[in-house]
Amino acid sequence: MKKISICASLFILVSCAYEPADELTIYTSRQPQLIEPIVEKFSLETGIKVNFLSGNAQELMERIDVEGDNSPADIFMTVDAGVLWQAAERDIFSSTNSKILEENIPSYLRDPENKWFGLSKRARTIVYSNDQFNDNDFSTYEDLADPKWKGKLCLRTSKKVYNRSLMASMIDAYGFEKAKEVVTGWISNLATEVFSNDTNALKAVSSGQCGLTIVNTYYLARLLDDPQYDNLTLFWANQSDRGVHVNISGAGIVKTSKNKQAATLLLEYLSSEKAQDFYASANKEYPVLDGAMVHASIKDWGEFIEDNINVGKLGSLQKEAVFLAQEVGYK
Ligand code: FE
Repeated sequence: MKKISICASLFILVSCAYEPADELTIYTSRQPQLIEPIVEKFSLETGIKVNFLSGNAQELMERIDVEGDNSPADIFMTVDAGVLWQAAERDIFSSTNSKILEENIPSYLRDPENKWFGLSKRARTIVYSNDQFNDNDFSTYEDLADPKWKGKLCLRTSKKVYNRSLMASMIDAYGFEKAKEVVTGWISNLATEVFSNDTNALKAVSSGQCGLTIVNTYYLARLLDDPQYDNLTLFWANQSDRGVHVNISGAGIVKTSKNKQAATLLLEYLSSEKAQDFYASANKEYPVLDGAMVHASIKDWGEFIEDNINVGKLGSLQKEAVFLAQEVGYK
């Protein structure tokens, strides 16, 4: 009798220790429709239910801070390495050691301390009007500072983290002074005031208000669904030197999560081939997993050489990028 009860309590101990969480909560600033379908598949396969709380990245980070030990958040998911880096600086994440994540995600697309991981790549490059120019007219981001582009360039505001990250990549590549020279040139070549978003900058190129801009490629992919924007052409910048600027969407496990094992399982799932085929193409971005599918509509843009600076640097140089923009009057 006594023997049986010891076995029973041992069994309970063992099963408690290995019992996977049956519920996870993701705080996400990424549009839910881009992740829900693939996360539903994960739930079907594992029996782990996943809840979402969507919102603005800054507000979600604030919320995790305020909730402290009681936060229901297991995973924080967002876009741009600048924001992921900030989350790590705020001590929101714990490190996740996983061979699968290390194998699936190239090291330059994840935090060196494994606090966050890139799950899709977003390339930011030149788009021009083929009514005015052709591929031979373009080479690098830096070339857009040349006076030959006067009155031709349209840019999104420097207040957007995407452009801060792009400037950070130039600060890393050339140093602050040279990067500042480039951005000064951009500003003197502006055709008009800066735009609040990439789509409006693209529309201004298409309408002839300017000749070229720098945007994340998925915005172009969305517009090209409409034939009226057929005069927009993508150019992969810096293909004969450091490569095109690449950023990420990504996620990390929240420090106070009580379900780290299940959360790791979910991140591993999102980096796996079956999820990567969907995850990046849902937003016409690029997968982080080598060989995973890209959306049919962007296949024609072909392969490109990427700037493989560790994306964490885009975060750590963010303040300098903001300072640079202020110095040169890039609004
Ligand atoms: Fe975006």
